[in-house]
Order: sequence, then structure tokens, then C-alpha cells
Amino acid sequence: MGVWAITGASRGLGRALGALLNTHGHHVVALARNVEDTFAWVREEGVAAGSVTPLVLDLADVSSIASAAAAMLALPAVAEHGLEGLVHNAGDVLPVGSMSSVDDDAWARSMQVNLIGVQQFTKALWPAMVRGGCRVVTISSGASLRPIHGWSAYCVTKAGLDMWARMLAVEGADVGIEAVAVAPGIVDTAMQATIRGAGPDGFPSHADFVGLHRDGHLVPPEEVAKRLLPVLTDGERFPSGQRFDVREL
Ligand code: NDP
Repeated sequence: MGVWAITGASRGLGRALGALLNTHGHHVVALARNVEDTFAWVREEGVAAGSVTPLVLDLADVSSIASAAAAMLALPAVAEHGLEGLVHNAGDVLPVGSMSSVDDDAWARSMQVNLIGVQQFTKALWPAMVRGGCRVVTISSGASLRPIHGWSAYCVTKAGLDMWARMLAVEGADVGIEAVAVAPGIVDTAMQATIRGAGPDGFPSHADFVGLHRDGHLVPPEEVAKRLLPVLTDGERFPSGQRFDVREL
């Protein structure tokens, strides 16, 4: 079984996907800023020694992106076999607030973390991706298709990320690279807590998100990961260049 890299693997959906891929026999490179959280779940899940490699990655910082990619390319399993899969799961919903008053630096940071960093990290990993072909999965959102008042940065980045995946499917086809996007539904993670904590100022649908949580509509990340697994690994059923929604599988 080959090596899969997952960004945003310290908690939430990334943690669940990393643990699941590992139980299916894959070596997982688990990337995030807070590597201590990753080491903690690796212990909690009783992961086989050496089969998950936690690495520091801050997508807001181009030097961190370069170091993480260099560390990945130097891993013996990657140097020998290349990278079989790459999940661009890390994401940040902030800043929340009206476009007319949102902080410029926070808006630009969202572009870097959710979109530009994805391109930079992928480009740096390219040599390992083309060795034996690579399946790339971007974690999309309903926000890529629907404008949500107060989420301008997040909606723009997720819409851009959908097109980025389609572009990669086109340009990577000749070198064995497949790319799909998948929206995971409403997942019970720290991101949803951040959304509820943002408050209604400049965010009129805040009460809807509070209600979804109150009424038990958030799905545990482990359940979403199970439903996503075929999208990650089954290229015939889920062809390159397409976008899927976990609620329609
Ligand atoms: P969480 O907030 O629980 O996890 C986000 C992950 O991204 C964490 O592991 C975090 O790790 C990492 N991350 C955040 N900022 C950075 C950064 N600057 N550099 C590197 N890693 C970073 O969110 P979810 O698990 O809910 O989100 C996973 C994906 O699913 C995201 O792309 C999100 O947009 C998408 N999504 C989620 C939905 C939901 O309802 N939860 C709905 C639709 C889409 P650390 O802080 O350690 O760096």
C-alpha cells in the first residue's frame, strides 16, 4: 500500500481520514501546524509504529510549505515509491464578516491557506506525484457553489479550489495524476464551533448553523470519513475532474 499525505490532519475530518486510511494499510503523512495534536491521536488510535508520520505544515507560511514538502520528499517511503494520494483537507473559515469591513490581511490570509498554499504545496511535491501517479482530493464545501453572506473569503477560496482541482485533472492526466473535489456535508468539528462562535454580526445565517448543531444535524467526522473513502481510492467510480457531494453518494 502506498503513501497518502493529508493536510489538516491534527483534528476533525483530517484526523478521521488519516486514521481510516491507516487502518486500510496506507502509510499516512499527517500534516498540520499543531503536530502535538497529531502525535496525541496517533497514540490514542494505537497506530502501528512508523505507519503515520506527523509533519509540521503552516499553509499561511511559504517557507513552512517548502520545508514540509522537502521533508516529505526525503521520507524513505516517498523517495522509494512516490506519493499515491494527497488530500488537501486543511481549511479555515475565518474571517467571518461583511465584505465591506472585513480585515484585508485576514482576507488575504484565507486565500493563502485555503487556495494559494494548496497550489504551492502540490507544485513542490510534483516529483513524488509523477513517479507512479497520484490521486489528489480537495475537500470542497457547499460554500463553493452558494454565496453565504459574511463568508466572502471562504466561499471564494472554495470556489477557486474546485476549479483548481479541475485544472489539475486536465494538466495532470498525461502524467498519471487524478484530481477530484468532494464536499463533506456538515461535519461536527472545531470549524463548526468556530462558525457558531463567530456570532451574527455580518453573518445573517448564523442562527441556522446554531440550529443545525442544536437539532443534532452535524455528522461525526469518523462517519463522514467512511463515506468519503471510496471517493479517495476508487478512480473508476469517481472519475478525475469531477466534484462530488457526500450527501449524494
Ligand atoms: P477543523 O477546524 O476541525 O480542522 C481544520 C484542520 O486544518 C486542522 O487540522 C488544522 O490544524 C488545519 N489547519 C488550519 N489552518 C491551517 C494552516 N494555516 N496550515 C495548515 N493546516 C491548517 O475543520 P474540519 O475538519 O471541519 O475541516 C476540514 C475540511 O473540511 C476543511 O477544508 C473545511 O473547509 C471542510 N469543510 C468542513 C465542513 C464542516 O462542516 N466542518 C463543511 C464543509 C467543508 P492545525 O490548527 O493544527 O494547523
